Amino acid sequence: MIVIREELCPQTHACPTLPLCPVGAIFQEGFNVPTVDNEKCICCCKCANNQV
Ligand code: SF4
Repeated sequence: MIVIREELCPQTHACPTLPLCPVGAIFQEGFNVPTVDNEKCICCCKCANNQV
């Protein structure tokens, strides 16, 4: 399961990990902290392994 550490998210821009997710499991409302739909997530770690 992907855990987003809210304290590390600057919340000042569109999250660059959104287009990396192959199943569209990451959502962001405005520049808020993104959320991951664990029902969709396949735990590929593409979002976690990219230093963006
Ligand atoms: S681990 Fe993979 S499937 Fe899950 S949110 Fe990250 S990129 Fe998407």
